[in-house]
Amino acid sequence: MNFEAFFEEKLGGLHEAGNYRVFTDIERHAGGFPRATRYRADGSTQDVTVWCSNDYLGMGQNPLVTGAMKEAIERCGAGAGGTRNISGTNHYHVMLERELADLHGKQDALIFTSGYVSNWAALGTLGSKIPGLIIYSDALNHASMIEGIRHARCEKRVFRHNDPDDLRRLMALDDPAAPKMVAFESVYSMDGDIAPIADLCDVADEFGAMTYLDEVHAVGMYGPRGGGIAEREGIMDRLTVIEGTLGKAFGVMGGYITASRALCDFVRSFASGFIFTTALPPSLAAAAAVSIRHLKASQLERRRHQDAVAKVRKALDAHGIPHMPNPSHIVPVMVGNAAKCKWISDVLIDNHGIYVQPINYPTVPVKTERLRITPTPMHTDGDIRHLAGALSELWSQCALARAVA
Ligand SMILES: *Cc1c(COP(=O)(O)O)cnc(C)c1O
Repeated sequence: MNFEAFFEEKLGGLHEAGNYRVFTDIERHAGGFPRATRYRADGSTQDVTVWCSNDYLGMGQNPLVTGAMKEAIERCGAGAGGTRNISGTNHYHVMLERELADLHGKQDALIFTSGYVSNWAALGTLGSKIPGLIIYSDALNHASMIEGIRHARCEKRVFRHNDPDDLRRLMALDDPAAPKMVAFESVYSMDGDIAPIADLCDVADEFGAMTYLDEVHAVGMYGPRGGGIAEREGIMDRLTVIEGTLGKAFGVMGGYITASRALCDFVRSFASGFIFTTALPPSLAAAAAVSIRHLKASQLERRRHQDAVAKVRKALDAHGIPHMPNPSHIVPVMVGNAAKCKWISDVLIDNHGIYVQPINYPTVPVKTERLRITPTPMHTDGDIRHLAGALSELWSQCALARAVA
């Protein structure tokens, strides 16, 4: 086989379908969030303002966080030096797991190298090791959950997005004696909508099912201590497993689950994706713990974040730029055309220094192509005016429909 020709042909298919992904090469400015330098393909550079970061609160450059990271490197060096079981458990990991268990009011926590791996390993392990487990999965669950369930090779049912009635209908069709688990997210990252967690837990309870909640887009940002939507609603105890990331609002990297001591110990003991991989660098664990601790106590970042979201929505409204209403911090500006979405994104960065990645099929359905804008507490009023003004100009150039107020 001509492997090179095969790769090129498959890549050509992506290009033709308009799904080929190109990196935007940036260097973020510590202390200057959300500013960055963009490196163009021709070697030239440009100052840009990032409007699509998942470092939602700018904690990745909070001096407390970077200070903790530097200090841990000075104390422990760069890497963990092993898997968790073979010399790689650093005291910083242990402290971080305690911090996480406390954040979600659970007995224990277990960290992984990313949120993706935590979902993949935890769902994969629970699904494969609990005999006869059926997993009920929300239709819009993240790829990492889908892959974890696929990896488990257990029975799987997909319920309509955020629909407790559909979940109940599906659960009622199965053997009442079969062990069951309901897996869903709190904040969905593309539409920014929020799951009816209590209602889904009610249905799970009717059938004696475990519940598994991905709070990746909510931890740090919702709830009085940043425990997520379930904390805000006072229902963390209703979730069997709460999963999160250290890479979004906490600004660092890594993923985790929190649950009962026995469940965490079970995953720790049976998950290949936990056992056979090098532990996170101690410095990451140190930085994440400080970030979490800070956001448990401080409301300032959360309040400013919500203020920035409200200001962006208002500025878009003033120009009639259509954005999907939702109760979260994610502002999807709807373009509804893949080519125009890509073009607007290109012109925004090239001519206006505004970096927003276009979101096209297959990440979202065709005709719902969008710019996913994530305001942060560090975007200024001037940044917001600049963004709305630039979008307005491009809306006219693309002859896109305006929203009527
Ligand atoms: C980003 C994301 C993850 C993966 O988290 P990482 O730490 O980035 O690997 C998991 N679930 C959802 C819903 C996500 O959006």
